[in-house]
Amino acid sequence: MNTHRRLNSKRRRRFRDRKFVLYREFRYFGMKLARSGLIHSKVGNMSARIGHRIFISKTRSMLEDLAYSDIVAVDDLGPSRNDVRASSDLPMHRAIYHETKNKAVIHVHSPYAVAESLLTTDECIISDDVEMKVVLSRIPLMDTPGESGLPIEEYGAELGKYRALIIRGHGTYAVGSSLDQAYFIAHCVEHACKIHYLCRIRS
Ligand SMILES: [Zn+2]
Repeated sequence: MNTHRRLNSKRRRRFRDRKFVLYREFRYFGMKLARSGLIHSKVGNMSARIGHRIFISKTRSMLEDLAYSDIVAVDDLGPSRNDVRASSDLPMHRAIYHETKNKAVIHVHSPYAVAESLLTTDECIISDDVEMKVVLSRIPLMDTPGESGLPIEEYGAELGKYRALIIRGHGTYAVGSSLDQAYFIAHCVEHACKIHYLCRIRS
């Protein structure tokens, strides 16, 4: 084997090893998202950035039961060959990575976050829960890209300032330096929205 072919096969092996480690993380957090009721069926997606690559769940994949082939690698700036296989939310994930230093993104259609986004006309949700107030400060509520007239980069930039945002009537984008952290934030958003909702019932 010549040097060039040896280098290529070493690179491919390194890529496969890295993807396998990530796959196990995706699978672990996908199951946790389902068990905690943050996702259902084939909605929601997640990604992680390593260097100039984004590893993202495949379009229409079931996060609850991910296969190795459900993780797709694309270029961070794009477009790239695998874009068609990636989640249709890829432009949002790219914008977040382009505008921020985050390394992981989780998107869920969790019930209280969606309900609160439809019930309030405020521009953000400020948690009434003391602990969540510390973790999240505020959760911006934004209209769907396309309806808002805002470029997708603005959504990405918002996640440089806050750890999560909610698209009205759609769901949460939570970010972090790892999938573990993004998962924690997605959970916190849902908890904060649940408290917000319950307090509203009594008021
Ligand atoms: Zn969605």
